[in-house]
Amino acid sequence: MISDLIVVGGGASGFMGAITAVSSGLKSVIILEGTTKVLEKVRISGGGRCNITNSCGDVSNLVNNYPRGEKQLKGLFSRFSTKEAFDWFQERGLKLKVEKDGRVFPLSDSSNEVITCLSELARNAGIKVFTDLHVQQISNTNIGFTLVAKGNKTFNAKNILLCTGSHPSGRKLAKSLGHSIISPVPSLFSFCTTTANLQSCSGVSINAHIKLLVNKKKYSETGPILITHLGFSGPAILRLSAFAARTLHANKYLAELRVNWLCMNENDVRSKINLYKQENGRKIVFKSKPFECLPKSLWKALLLSINIDKQLKWADLSRSDKECIVKSLTQKCYSIKSRGPYGDEFVTAGGIPLQEVNFKTMESKICKGLFFAGEVMDIDGITGGFNFQHCWTSGWIAGKGIYSNSSN
Ligand SMILES: Cc1cc2nc3c(=O)[nH]c(=O)nc-3n(C[C@H](O)[C@H](O)[C@H](O)COP(=O)(O)OP(=O)(O)OC[C@H]3O[C@@H](n4cnc5c(N)ncnc54)[C@H](O)[C@@H]3O)c2cc1C
Repeated sequence: MISDLIVVGGGASGFMGAITAVSSGLKSVIILEGTTKVLEKVRISGGGRCNITNSCGDVSNLVNNYPRGEKQLKGLFSRFSTKEAFDWFQERGLKLKVEKDGRVFPLSDSSNEVITCLSELARNAGIKVFTDLHVQQISNTNIGFTLVAKGNKTFNAKNILLCTGSHPSGRKLAKSLGHSIISPVPSLFSFCTTTANLQSCSGVSINAHIKLLVNKKKYSETGPILITHLGFSGPAILRLSAFAARTLHANKYLAELRVNWLCMNENDVRSKINLYKQENGRKIVFKSKPFECLPKSLWKALLLSINIDKQLKWADLSRSDKECIVKSLTQKCYSIKSRGPYGDEFVTAGGIPLQEVNFKTMESKICKGLFFAGEVMDIDGITGGFNFQHCWTSGWIAGKGIYSNSSN
């Protein structure tokens, strides 16, 4: 028997691709999942809540959230974007909510509802889903493809949709069919620093302006950063890590992070300190601070790092010590020595090179009948629901593309 389509990989993009192909008119569709559970990343995503997409609707703003794939996604989003994904799920019974920062979650705050929704849609569409069938080999035949899965089980298909996420086997399968591969590197990770005295501030979250210098390249962001027991995390750090992913990897994750803890310019900080000094001369510098927004533990850590005397009064603060405080607040340098063990969200940069994919259909330009969707390609986004959005978009376009390929 030969199927119209075999989807390799039962993740977000695979389900979207399979469901769209059937709803467009394709008849026999199979999903082969290598592990014992489908949609496992959906389950663990967003801390179990699944940040399914983002409310950002303007395509030119939306694509700025993708360090790789920005150009190609512009075209893809003009066909199926965040609004279409939102409506697609709502119309299929999954109630969604938008949080203040634009992230979209199931109303129930449970990723299981996303899994139930996609699984039921697949079942109702007659899609056969097989688990524990890791695909080991795909070869071209005169009628399409033959796949060999775990236990030497063979399947035949006219089309293949490769949706293996960041798993190395997907890249290996694509390579065996003639594709080149951009070597994978991690994206979205926290930073470890060698600076010791920040540990007392672990858990502090603050809006900061940050600059990353990696081997003469500069990256900057403004937004929330979180001090951890190892260094830094939080949305602005994860965003930096994504945009600098390749450079950081090439430089063995050695970098310098410069933090402006107040998002203020030096002159304004200096003026505020001068005024505070005048009005609070009898107070102890360690115990009273001119900046409300700065947590006490961080203020103390910064003073300790520049050896300010713990008993010093504001009136006795020397000009040079004052300048050191200004510098610490506006351009404090931290040596980054490695990446953290886990990010809040973890994706891989790299995979199928984008110039080898036809983005009108998601079909390979190298191997006819082979299609791609999701993280297997060299496309990745930052945190905020952008990675799943790319899966829904590329899965949907692949589903349509495979149908039109088969009906021609
Ligand atoms: C902890 C965590 C939290 C995340 N939270 C979010 C979030 O809230 N919002 C967001 O937008 N993104 C989030 N992401 C990123 C998001 O999960 C991924 O971008 C997305 O799952 C990629 O989907 P995919 O379909 O391309 O691949 P995957 O979801 O990885 O699915 C690929 C599937 O293919 C299977 N497979 C691989 N090789 C084979 C083979 N040879 N044969 C058969 N099956 C195979 C795998 O077992 C897997 O089930 C998170 C990631 C992690 C790790």
